[in-house]
Amino acid sequence: MFRTLDDLDARGMRVVVRSDLNVPAKDGKVTDSTRIDRSAGTIRELAEKGARVIVLTHFGRPKGREEKYSQRLLVEPLAKALGRPVAWADDVIGPDAVEAVNKMKDGDVLLMENVRFHPEEEKNDPVFARQLADLGQAYVNDAFSTAHRAHASTEAIARLLPAYAGRLMQAELEALGKALEHPEKPVAAVVGGAKVSTKLDLLGNLVAKVDLLIIGGGMANTFLFAQGVAVGKSLCEKEMADTARQILDKAKTAKCHILLPTDVVVAAAFAENTPSRVVPVNAVPDDMMILDAGPASVESIIDRINGCKTLVWNGPLGAFEIAPFDAATNLVAQAAAQRTRQGKLLTVAGGGDTVAALAKAGVEDQFTYVSTAGGAFLEWLEGKELPGVAALTSKASGCGCGGAH
Ligand code: AMP
Repeated sequence: MFRTLDDLDARGMRVVVRSDLNVPAKDGKVTDSTRIDRSAGTIRELAEKGARVIVLTHFGRPKGREEKYSQRLLVEPLAKALGRPVAWADDVIGPDAVEAVNKMKDGDVLLMENVRFHPEEEKNDPVFARQLADLGQAYVNDAFSTAHRAHASTEAIARLLPAYAGRLMQAELEALGKALEHPEKPVAAVVGGAKVSTKLDLLGNLVAKVDLLIIGGGMANTFLFAQGVAVGKSLCEKEMADTARQILDKAKTAKCHILLPTDVVVAAAFAENTPSRVVPVNAVPDDMMILDAGPASVESIIDRINGCKTLVWNGPLGAFEIAPFDAATNLVAQAAAQRTRQGKLLTVAGGGDTVAALAKAGVEDQFTYVSTAGGAFLEWLEGKELPGVAALTSKASGCGCGGAH
């Protein structure tokens, strides 16, 4: 279990908040402030409760102090999102940082320079983490998207201060918990995308946890090939056939039903305006490639999902970037969104192209939860422990005594 802001009596307290404000920028100006707007909730709540809020964030992979990675450009957009002033500190440690913190009053917000200007950050260095911890009296992690990395500002610091999940972190952990850790059954997973080889751990974890695994996209071709189906010119990792068969065996043992396409959309090339047609999966012409699941497959996927209470989704069912190869992804996503709206299905999606695919299907905000955390979401789907999350559990997180007992 992790503690949340509900457990923190923040008034008058110096609270170090680790946010992910890693936003796109051009010519020193933020071009998309979505992450800032989302992160503002936790910071505002703490400031309104009278805390002195010290915000840490990272940007890029700087090698030491590199001005092009400075976070100063965030001061204005953050102040705008919060509706209150934001002070700036040129460093996260040292005299400037300490002075900036000492000047703070209750309800103030202070943004600090890119925490990765110190190489000790990514090394999870204990001395550096102690310096960060000394800035505050409590620690709030609101950056799920960096929780798969054990860094000083995401992991070690959480063991030195009383640690809490921010509202974004809390929402993510609660959604993920409901999807796989203690889901309402039956649970289905859609796994699509290009290659089996990039999703081996993910598939291995899911077959052990879900009742129904729907495989689509390029990776379905490898599974079909492994079962003796001729896939023509399709994207297919022939060298992964043994691995695919092992996953199918593991699924059988775990009583996880695997659903592969029974009909497919084929074309001569993955290009705009290429003629395409639907063929049964065992009739793919030698000079054609599979680019989407066919209508009969879509119908049976939707039918199966309708019998489930929970759905986890990663990866498109076809080459969704170009119509008409987005049809299966769109139709299944829209059907899942409808069940979600009706309260009959809990839907959690994320990772890589999935957010873009769901946005293209027009349902991005109709799923129960869509994670934008990328790598961290994928590692969670792989069943891995995320160091930043593990350090937040009440057992591991610091009591603030500095090891005095
Ligand atoms: P991933 O990043 O692994 O989730 O893969 C997403 C990519 O898989 C997208 O760019 C899709 O166009 C691609 N993809 C999905 N289905 C196919 C397919 N049948 N053939 C080739 N590429 C595909």
